[in-house]
Amino acid sequence: MCGDPVENGELIIDDGNIVEISATQSGSDDAALELTDHLLMPGFVNAHSHLSLTALEKKLSPADSFADWIRALIPLNSALDNESRVQGIRSGAEAMKRSGVTALGDYVADPELLTLIGDLGFRSVLFLETIGFHSERAQELCKKVEEVLMRGNPSPICKLGLAPHAPYSVSPDLFRSLGHLAQQYHCPVSSHVAEIKEEGRFLVLGDDSLEELLKERSAWDPKWQPPYKSPIQYLSSLGILDRLIAVHCNFVSGDLDLMAEKKVSAVFCPQSSEWFGRTNLMPVRALLDRGISVALGTDSLASSNSLNFLDELRMADKLLPDISRKEILTMATCGGAEALGLPCGTLASEQRADLIGFRVPSAYSGPWWDVPFEPDRREVDFYRVDGNPEVLSQD
Ligand SMILES: [Zn+2]
Repeated sequence: MCGDPVENGELIIDDGNIVEISATQSGSDDAALELTDHLLMPGFVNAHSHLSLTALEKKLSPADSFADWIRALIPLNSALDNESRVQGIRSGAEAMKRSGVTALGDYVADPELLTLIGDLGFRSVLFLETIGFHSERAQELCKKVEEVLMRGNPSPICKLGLAPHAPYSVSPDLFRSLGHLAQQYHCPVSSHVAEIKEEGRFLVLGDDSLEELLKERSAWDPKWQPPYKSPIQYLSSLGILDRLIAVHCNFVSGDLDLMAEKKVSAVFCPQSSEWFGRTNLMPVRALLDRGISVALGTDSLASSNSLNFLDELRMADKLLPDISRKEILTMATCGGAEALGLPCGTLASEQRADLIGFRVPSAYSGPWWDVPFEPDRREVDFYRVDGNPEVLSQD
């Protein structure tokens, strides 16, 4: 993803680090693996997921409105028993790994799940998801988040981040306080941004459907005044836009300069966009042309039918006719690594050895970048995180 492909070369790994890539093979090392018939590339980075919602698979359908979808989601999510949730997390992780995901940016609403998700074997950023629209709750919620941050990272390859849920579900005070915490603890910050038209309306005129939803949840703040700004401008005014990992970004066309200036990364979720039947999609071409990092994410099975990352690649290919397959693979690897600040996403010396491989028939004559998009590919044939072999279960 950072240079010309190397044919029949050799990649040397030491202590989980890529130390050298050469165009010739020395072949002298007993520990050498013979992968001559493989296309070897950096593992995929799934920059946005909610593994803890995997057990909601096929339980929801796209509703008439986004507010109705949330209305259906909340009771189903709170009714999930712990065993089903844990089983869902494990099966979701398995589906991602089989399809080549080596790194993850997962939103975690319940800190009790951090150890479990942190131990799944992904290189990851686990974003502490926080919701709270009433300003009076900001300090209390922030204190809880800080208590979790003080416990430190769940594992050596897993760090913590912050995820204020969205502009319509998080108060300005909570956004500001979480922004301060992120600076203090050097955490990446991610948020759902400009996903739906109603969100833009809510911030300019007040939107009835979102206000109703907040009132039903006893979360409405009577002191709320619409800031008369777009979602991106609003987050900038709260001081939270710098290096933000902004998920969805379906309505950001007027804010591209500001996004580039603040080094925002955008995460496109192809299958989730298709599932909701979105007609206004992230302006990926315009973002890439401004030098803005774009990554790919699966979102959750509450708004998608699969966590198979190869399905995401194929859906991105279908939804983004003006983006080349090479660019989609760049988004799926180094775009995600850049967004999450992880030392992976390219095969280059000094990077960690997160690798995947696809077995390619010797008669294959097409371009290398078409291989992961082949319709029959359901899984990768080689998988390593941090140089370590991963044994995937056979069921
Ligand atoms: Zn999401």
